[in-house]
Amino acid sequence: MDVEKLISTLSLTGADIPPRSTTRTAGKPKFVKFLSGDNGEGMPETFFEDPRTFKPKPGPHGQIQTWGIFPYHEDNIWDFDGIQMMYRTMAHQFSYDNRGGKPWPEKQFMEVLKDRKREQLSKLDLADLDKKDIIIKIHLKFLQDANGDPRVWRRVRLSAGMKIGVFQDKVLSPVLNWVRNLHCYTFTDLRDGAVFGPEDANATDIMHINQVGYDYLPDDKYMLAHLFSEVGDKFAHLYDYGDKWHHEIEIEKIFPLEESYGRVQILDGKGMCPGENMRGSYQYENFLKAYDTDSYTEQVKKRREILDCPNYKGFGKPPSLFNIDAFDIGQANERLVAALGSPNSVRAGMKAFTMPINPSAHDSRTGKLKKGQSIQREWDHESHGYWQETTSNTKDKRSQSACAACGKPGGQDLKTCSGCRAILYCSAEHQRSHWKDVHKKQCSRKYLKK
Ligand SMILES: [Zn+2]
Ligand SMILES: [Zn+2]
Repeated sequence: MDVEKLISTLSLTGADIPPRSTTRTAGKPKFVKFLSGDNGEGMPETFFEDPRTFKPKPGPHGQIQTWGIFPYHEDNIWDFDGIQMMYRTMAHQFSYDNRGGKPWPEKQFMEVLKDRKREQLSKLDLADLDKKDIIIKIHLKFLQDANGDPRVWRRVRLSAGMKIGVFQDKVLSPVLNWVRNLHCYTFTDLRDGAVFGPEDANATDIMHINQVGYDYLPDDKYMLAHLFSEVGDKFAHLYDYGDKWHHEIEIEKIFPLEESYGRVQILDGKGMCPGENMRGSYQYENFLKAYDTDSYTEQVKKRREILDCPNYKGFGKPPSLFNIDAFDIGQANERLVAALGSPNSVRAGMKAFTMPINPSAHDSRTGKLKKGQSIQREWDHESHGYWQETTSNTKDKRSQSACAACGKPGGQDLKTCSGCRAILYCSAEHQRSHWKDVHKKQCSRKYLKK
């Protein structure tokens, strides 16, 4: 971690420093091993326990967040000491994990928790749950209307067999109106606190990973069906490790096999998505409360603030026409169709805004590109910088795919578009209809015989 990042960590977490310490300064851990010079100072207390017998700690409502390793606030959100974590990182960053050295004690602990969960998942009998359609209600926590009901929510029908990562990228982001592939995120099984997230993610907020549970299982290997078992179950979604937007997803219905088709459908919803980078659930809760009692001029100013965010770039209307409590299902469907009709996002090259001192300067985030990947740059003339993202133009792995037309999760029987070989379909019928309605204009037809 370099100095610049540390300074930005300080300023990012400054407003959210918890009032009490959650760590202790010394003691003998039951399992993890320290390097000399470390006595565990700044390490959350849980890591002094034995991960092989560790029982995740539930919050005040019985839900378990972030592997159950942190204490909780009253609102069931976990408590961490960001400043202590940062000092600890600074103190030991050149010993642990370095030149083949011992992994961080925190990491030693998390590896055991992950192994235990992996083992449990490998023995789990889903009993065809992954072949069934479900109705879910996604809502943003803490944002409530005058009746105390969720103010921003979406109801969606889809297959429980969809991979968690594909769900985040091609359904949740477009349906809510978060920007695809911009920030890191997690999904949490609230029954045992197990966390799933994007492998290889490289957005800058990854530096706060310790604050959201230290580690996770890869979300492209597990399905939504791994996060719940029955109607009424809930799982959590955290978006952006810096801002921290807290979502909860409830299972409202599970369809029988004979009524399950796998098609993704937006059923209903309410409320506009908050603006990206508007500082997370708690800050936005206050923003909305103030908005409700603001004068008309103040309200228009606040709407403009939202519309200036990256996820409202395409709004195209004056702020006076922006209704904060409306949900435009037509626009949400357009975003969903576009997402389903494209390859999965490349997590190793997430979207980032860069203001180059020299426009041709080398971007240090750009790693080695894999086959079919390229770097897309989009200049933003207002901000004098550009958005950069790695994208793929080869088809998704079948195990991590969804039909480009309907969103049905992939299998070995998926058909490939013979024009671009970048898109997969569940049936010849969906390939035909998608060609006519959407793909004809997008297909590169690179491989079509003349
Ligand atoms: Zn299909
Ligand atoms: Zn094509």
